[in-house]
Amino acid sequence: MTKLKAHLIDLIKAQGPLAVDQFMSEALSHPQYGYYTTRDPFGRQGDFITAPEISQTFGEMIGLWFGHMWLEMGSPSKFYLAEAGPGRGTLMQDMLRVLKTVPGFLDACNLHLVEISPTLRDIQKEKLAGYTLPTWHDQLNKMLEQMTDAPFFMVGNEFLDALPIKQFEKTNTGWHERLVGLTDNAENLTFSTSFSVTQTPIPDMLDDAEDGAIFESCPAAENITADLSQHLRKFGGIALFIDYGYDRYGTGDTLQALENHQYADVFENPGQADLTAHVNFKKLSDITTNHKAASTAIVTQGAFLKELGIEHRAQQLIQNATEDQKNDIMTAVERLISPDQMGELFKVMAIHDPDLPQPIAGFKP
Ligand code: SAH
Repeated sequence: MTKLKAHLIDLIKAQGPLAVDQFMSEALSHPQYGYYTTRDPFGRQGDFITAPEISQTFGEMIGLWFGHMWLEMGSPSKFYLAEAGPGRGTLMQDMLRVLKTVPGFLDACNLHLVEISPTLRDIQKEKLAGYTLPTWHDQLNKMLEQMTDAPFFMVGNEFLDALPIKQFEKTNTGWHERLVGLTDNAENLTFSTSFSVTQTPIPDMLDDAEDGAIFESCPAAENITADLSQHLRKFGGIALFIDYGYDRYGTGDTLQALENHQYADVFENPGQADLTAHVNFKKLSDITTNHKAASTAIVTQGAFLKELGIEHRAQQLIQNATEDQKNDIMTAVERLISPDQMGELFKVMAIHDPDLPQPIAGFKP
């Protein structure tokens, strides 16, 4: 049994069942045994592989996108560039490499990273050596409080999916919060539901959901979106999110565990498997409106990257490549944009200052 699982069993024995977000938060970010706190989960040897690790063209396109946004805003002489959950720092490294070609950008840029994992912070520091040292933060909202003198740019790839979700289950008496409790022999974790009906508002359009249907919410992502909306409205700028997720309200259990590139039972090895959930981009978009900020359309990763010219960039790279390298480059780019790979499951949305010049590149209707 993992140390984290033993810890969770003790915790439930002492305090009773946990909400799903408490379980997820312990599993991912417990200070000693949490998944992100204890390891480097990426790459071919790790548990999963992300877009920037698949192809350098991903970070290059996003870097050029930020360069373009900065020029569109009139090249402000000071601005913040932040990344939430930078992983191995590969995305930022690829972004900064192409941003060297935008005159004045790097001189005006103050780089900030939001990262909870000490292991990953070390890797990021190494990767970004050669650029002005970034400032690290544990929490996004604390970071924003210090950025009140210049516009703000941010990127988060597969960041929101790592934030803890709550789940609610429809029963014949209404919606009940889903909990994590113990099996009868108290040796394993299992789902249960709260006795009382939840006070959390469930969207009206789900009134007809069948018994057993699961509705998910992500308070952490919702709070971050509210904080970003207020900040961007006041200080200007844009925050870009890329993640697997959906663009309308619906039901479904998307909590998943991944270990060694295989789906695993969420309760089997907590602390040792990555846990994620799909992002409800529609909900986040509604929150930006409530806070008088704006959001772009929710587009697919494939459409976004193609509009930014990823296929042209791949052609360029191929010109000086060997046959094997050509194949690798094309296979990797296909993986990012093809509808039956990451192209459609992954969505892109930006939250921004409503006064930003329109249309925003990558999101043109
Ligand atoms: N963006 C990277 C990594 C994605 S994995 C890539 O595309 O490869 C999620 C990242 O978010 C990791 O760096 C993880 O340590 C970080 N993270 C997870 N939860 C976090 C939290 N609550 N606050 C800050 N960082 C977090």
